[in-house]
Amino acid sequence: MLDDLPPEFLVAWWAVVGLFVGSFLNVCIHRLPLAEETVSKPRRSRCPSCKTTLTWKENVPLLSWLVQRGRCRTCGWRIPFRYPLVEVLNALLWGWVAWLHLPADWPTTVLQSVVLSGLVVATFVDFACFEIPDEVSIGGIVLAPIAALCLPQIHDQTSLARLLTAPGAEHASREGALLACLGGMALGGGILWVIGWIGERVYGRDAMGFGDVKLLAAGGGFVGPGGVVLALMIAALSASVAGLANMLRFYWLVRSRARSRGGRRGVGKSLRVARVAGRYLPFGPYLALGVGIALLHWNDVARLLSGF
Ligand SMILES: [Zn+2]
Repeated sequence: MLDDLPPEFLVAWWAVVGLFVGSFLNVCIHRLPLAEETVSKPRRSRCPSCKTTLTWKENVPLLSWLVQRGRCRTCGWRIPFRYPLVEVLNALLWGWVAWLHLPADWPTTVLQSVVLSGLVVATFVDFACFEIPDEVSIGGIVLAPIAALCLPQIHDQTSLARLLTAPGAEHASREGALLACLGGMALGGGILWVIGWIGERVYGRDAMGFGDVKLLAAGGGFVGPGGVVLALMIAALSASVAGLANMLRFYWLVRSRARSRGGRRGVGKSLRVARVAGRYLPFGPYLALGVGIALLHWNDVARLLSGF
């Protein structure tokens, strides 16, 4: 019945579902790093500042924030911009997935939407707390093999999967998909673990958090070994750009402060301060970006590569 509707309608509808799921993601992002609250307890959403339980009117994604002009109605607490941002981002991602797959492929749409939402949670928790919740990374590690067995076609473009698939078959076999999934996990987790191990010996400090290792292991289970390589390249590139931008920001900050104080602090010293201050960036958000792009488009890239 749903398949008879025009695709634009399906995409818009799935995006609205994503908007409401985004509201739940905000709860996860706020509560997962806290020991005393869980995602389901307390049951109703409440203002993090005054703890007033929200009415349904105050809990409509995006609209409540717009109507209340970004403030809690009881205590006037300024609701962080993160809340509407996560909701809109999740709606856009779900709409994008729907646009790629609907109405032909509902199972892939649901799976990719769920994985992308997990990446959104990992991203914002990592930005806020420098950690990636196990609920996301371990959850992905558990879900990926199940997904490979139920939806083997997600690994169609993985050469590992083709090893265990009859030649000429339209889709990857279950055994092939499972092999691709486990190979992706081993490569994703393995690469970052080795980088971290080397970094620790060279720099004498934690170069790579174990949360990042688990996150790329989970992502690898969905995108396969080739997707892991693509995800890592995107992560390294985007993290470098962000790191450089961050250092520039600190450099200008230090310089302008020195100038306003009338001090003649050298450029060299400002650069050194900026290098140290700008170094502390979480890697999880960039990994999540890479895994997300690989998840949606690794098949296209692989098809492109096999054309050469
Ligand atoms: Zn409040």
